[in-house]
Amino acid sequence: MLSLTPSHIIEYLYCPRFTFFEYVLTIPQHEEHNYKVMKGREVHDQKLEQNKNYLRKRIGATDKFLDQYLTNDLIRGRIDEVLVLGDGTMAPLDYKFALYEDKIYETYQTQLYCYAWLIEETFGKKVEKGYLVYTRSQHKLVEISITESNKQDVKDAAEKIREIIEENIYPKATKFKARCVNCTYRNICTQ
Ligand code: SF4
Repeated sequence: MLSLTPSHIIEYLYCPRFTFFEYVLTIPQHEEHNYKVMKGREVHDQKLEQNKNYLRKRIGATDKFLDQYLTNDLIRGRIDEVLVLGDGTMAPLDYKFALYEDKIYETYQTQLYCYAWLIEETFGKKVEKGYLVYTRSQHKLVEISITESNKQDVKDAAEKIREIIEENIYPKATKFKARCVNCTYRNICTQ
């Protein structure tokens, strides 16, 4: 079984058929889709380096684990920072080399939910929130709450992806028909 990344989960949640076309029929999608997880670790931002301690202090972190590559039976992920909070819970923190646009993209949230799952399994601690830092908006810090059902949703998605790939299941189309208009697969997809 292929080890899934948060991007696989994000694609599945966008449309379950993406998983089928891409990983069962192995037809690649075009790269321009905007749900792809944007990273950009290569950007070295000196001001950000200076700000990191300040940000962790503001959060109330008592300890930190940097650049953590975590895996479990289904998914893997690379987390910029895993923070230990004052109440003994843990939280992922992810730097986005992006501007804050007054809304939190679902893709960013899904990514944090996947990280929460990985952290809970690896460290044996509860994760109830995560943090995003928008480095192009003066390092704006945003707290995202993470519920049990958020974590369960990504676990369920990962399990469904496993089924689609291992059992060649043709999944249901997305409920959002607008997504089909510019879809790479619209010519081969029976909607
Ligand atoms: S055409 Fe629509 S249902 Fe089919 S893969 Fe694309 S988004 Fe999903």
